[in-house]
Amino acid sequence: MNFDPTEDQRRWRDLAREFAQGEIRPRAAELDREQRFPYDIVAQMSRLGLMGLTLPEEYGGSGGDFVAYNLALEEISRADTSVGITMEAHISLGCAPIAAYGTTQQKERFLSRCATGESLWAFGLTEEEAGTDAGGTRTTAELEDGEWVINGSKKWITNSGTRITGGVTVIARTGTREDGRPELSAIIVPQDAPGYTRGPAYEKLGWRASDQHPLYFEDCHVPEENLLGERGRGFHQFLSTLDGGRVAVAALSVGLAQACFDDALLRAKEREQFGRSISEFQAIQFKLADMAMELELARNMVLKAAWLKDQGRPFGREASMAKVFASEAAKRAADQAVQIWGGEGFMETSTVARYWRQVKINEIGEGTSEINRQIIARSILRESPAEAKLFAQ
Ligand SMILES: Cc1cc2nc3c(=O)[nH]c(=O)nc-3n(C[C@H](O)[C@H](O)[C@H](O)COP(=O)(O)OP(=O)(O)OC[C@H]3O[C@@H](n4cnc5c(N)ncnc54)[C@H](O)[C@@H]3O)c2cc1C
Repeated sequence: MNFDPTEDQRRWRDLAREFAQGEIRPRAAELDREQRFPYDIVAQMSRLGLMGLTLPEEYGGSGGDFVAYNLALEEISRADTSVGITMEAHISLGCAPIAAYGTTQQKERFLSRCATGESLWAFGLTEEEAGTDAGGTRTTAELEDGEWVINGSKKWITNSGTRITGGVTVIARTGTREDGRPELSAIIVPQDAPGYTRGPAYEKLGWRASDQHPLYFEDCHVPEENLLGERGRGFHQFLSTLDGGRVAVAALSVGLAQACFDDALLRAKEREQFGRSISEFQAIQFKLADMAMELELARNMVLKAAWLKDQGRPFGREASMAKVFASEAAKRAADQAVQIWGGEGFMETSTVARYWRQVKINEIGEGTSEINRQIIARSILRESPAEAKLFAQ
């Protein structure tokens, strides 16, 4: 077994680290305070190839592997998870489905500008009545004279309303299946499609420098050829898209946990009480030790899931495990970082107060901890029917 990254993976990680520490970290607090989307940072990341890291080179992407992407995303998120989620939602949610299921024509038309990062792309699944129960999608798309006519709405869609957003891929009901369940399909909607509008951005607890909007479709017309992949395969496509997304949100969580650890360690060494550095107290040392252990474990889980994906092997269970563990480990790390900082950690002037606000969403977005635990349990039960019987007795 080899735990060393390849030369290419190391190069992406180091490039992301240097850029993130030099250009993102010093501005993260200000961007968060002003809730401002950092167009210049995204433009620089595009020039470095980070915004198209896993996307195919023939469409302008960087052609990196999934491990390299997660290593780079960890470094970006260590500096600021707002920028991290902008990169993640663009690559994993927006572009990956077009790269995986799109026709050559769709890739040329929609992916080429996105793979360079010149444009952002969004993924619209969540609705008022369809959160965890994503199959409960109410938005409809009907074929009329060679065009899809879309009606409905989506909520909280990341990267959907920036001035460089190219469009969104939405999941809509395109009919009813034989078993009576809705037929769901994915449809590409360019930003300027008639009948497509966005509502105002949200006030959020974290990810405040990232972009989310409600989306409205009122007799929105797009050409029939904007169907992404096969009609009726939308549910399958988004489940598979979310598997990749979960590994990436886990990497984002590891980056945030690392930032908590970095700043907690620094403070522990600097702060003196009772005439000694607080890092000399065992109570503080054990907190740092626990943070370091969980960080190591979470990072290994992310890299294993990413490596499985790169090998073309099943990775859904490992993706859910990494997502649950890393997001919860990051929450514990943020909590302990504030504790080590004491009252200073409660001040909005501290980095750790921001980390504490930022961390909660990782347990919610791209599948809550509850639904990921169900996925893990189902996969265990499916694979071991004999043991399941034993437990039931
Ligand atoms: C900042 C932000 C950005 C987002 N970006 C996007 C995006 O780009 N695209 C997109 O499509 N969506 C996006 N989302 C939506 C996100 O994926 C959902 O919030 C998430 O899937 C959970 O859905 P919900 O919030 O409606 O929670 P609900 O489904 O209402 O769940 C509420 C609670 O009930 C629990 N629960 C629900 N069902 C079950 C069950 N069967 N068993 C046990 N517990 C259950 C949940 O785990 C949770 O604890 C974003 C959300 C936020 C806040």
